[in-house]
Amino acid sequence: MRELTTCRSCNRFVAPDFSYCPYCGTGRVRSYEFRRLLDTPFDRMEQNVQEYSLLRLERIERQLDLLDGDLQHMMQDLLERNSL
Ligand SMILES: [Zn+2]
Repeated sequence: MRELTTCRSCNRFVAPDFSYCPYCGTGRVRSYEFRRLLDTPFDRMEQNVQEYSLLRLERIERQLDLLDGDLQHMMQDLLERNSL
């Protein structure tokens, strides 16, 4: 896919090798700077999502442990009741 950047003045898509916006003539930010500007918050967001997923997994694991304990308790209960 060809990389595209947008003009910071008119927000139109501009090829990354243009130094000036062909639509309004505004000097553009260089594409790698633009990408870094975009990538930084996205990286942070992705990291947050990963951390959040890990937290969720840990919470689910704890809940499963609790559920497992409950199930064993119930099974034991049933077995005891059946053996009476
Ligand atoms: Zn423009």
